[in-house]
Amino acid sequence: MRFETLAIHAGDRPDAATGAISVPIYQTSTFVFEDVGKTRGWDYSRMANPTRSVLEATLAQLEGGKAGFAFASGMAAETTVMHLLKAGDHVVSLDDMYGGTYTLFQGVMNAFGLEFTFVRMDNKQTIEAAIRPNTRMLWLETVSNPLLNVIDLEMVVDIAKRRTLLTVADNTFATPYFLRPIEYGVDLVVHSTSKYLNGHSDVIGGAVVTATDELAQRMQSLLTAMGTCASPFDCWLVLRGIETLPVRMKQHEENAMAVASYLKEQPAVRRVLYPGLESHKGHEIASRQMKGFGGVVSLELKGGVESVNAFLRNLKVFSLAESLGGLTSLAGQSATTSHVAVPKEYREKVGITDELIRLSVGLENIDDLIEDLEQAIRIAQMEA
Ligand SMILES: *Cc1c(COP(=O)(O)O)cnc(C)c1O
Repeated sequence: MRFETLAIHAGDRPDAATGAISVPIYQTSTFVFEDVGKTRGWDYSRMANPTRSVLEATLAQLEGGKAGFAFASGMAAETTVMHLLKAGDHVVSLDDMYGGTYTLFQGVMNAFGLEFTFVRMDNKQTIEAAIRPNTRMLWLETVSNPLLNVIDLEMVVDIAKRRTLLTVADNTFATPYFLRPIEYGVDLVVHSTSKYLNGHSDVIGGAVVTATDELAQRMQSLLTAMGTCASPFDCWLVLRGIETLPVRMKQHEENAMAVASYLKEQPAVRRVLYPGLESHKGHEIASRQMKGFGGVVSLELKGGVESVNAFLRNLKVFSLAESLGGLTSLAGQSATTSHVAVPKEYREKVGITDELIRLSVGLENIDDLIEDLEQAIRIAQMEA
């Protein structure tokens, strides 16, 4: 079955027990045994829950992996993945990752003896130079947050395979609709389902898909032991979101492309970052490796922080908020939202300036979105 069909039919659907066409929300902690020592296939919802299992099967099939796991948040998914490692292990990570991931690595996991090196993953030499005898994992985002750098998966996987390093790809921005990292040899795919997979800004959730059965078993053990699983109701909401993922992503992309093309022509805009623009550094890799360029556009306005603040305060259709990937268009200054916990010197070193604005282009009418940007830019220029 093809992507659009899997998004609606994967897993136990319709529900085998009742025939329900909508996946039932099995809001239960425990399941009654058939006999002493004999379950009906389910025992306790931390280990497995029928609603969660449909979502997990759907995630695995959409990413082309062996097994999927649904977590309470993207960060719960990442925290659980990091427990595949042990004290003394070293990780090479991309340097402009999601701010929360940076905090997890540098603020939490290193106290447990994990070591991290952050590099720009745009060439072989830089990555290889960062690898040490104790390196076990390469961590990347397929499209980075917020600079929208696109990583060449063939290059990274080639480096990893020759040294048997685990590769983990955060595929939140691209979604499996546009890119399936496991097809390129990546071992584990991570998602914040709070973003495009759910798509309606009403869930915090996360996911992991593994390329092998061995990794699936280790992830199941960790999830069971750590209790980082998603609730049945949240799984149901994400399932409902995924059913429309293909149509949503097409429209997100069409709107984002129109927004990026408009912004690129504005004299008040210093730079526009969108992998769909030919001027973007990652355009060539993205065109080769992805089916589409996604719905996030970053930009820098001229006129300093005052002009950025005036722009953000005067948007009417775009809402000033953290997050991305929902129906509703959002705008935010990366330095004070997704990357607020990242030290300023580090932010500036990797290119996340105070003037950087990230737009999550939603599904409103494109003319309303562009008129909104137009009027906010006009006010920002007057106040600068
Ligand atoms: C939001 C996000 C996360 C964290 O996910 P939560 O669901 O907020 O815990 C991780 N990676 C990326 C790329 C994100 O955008």
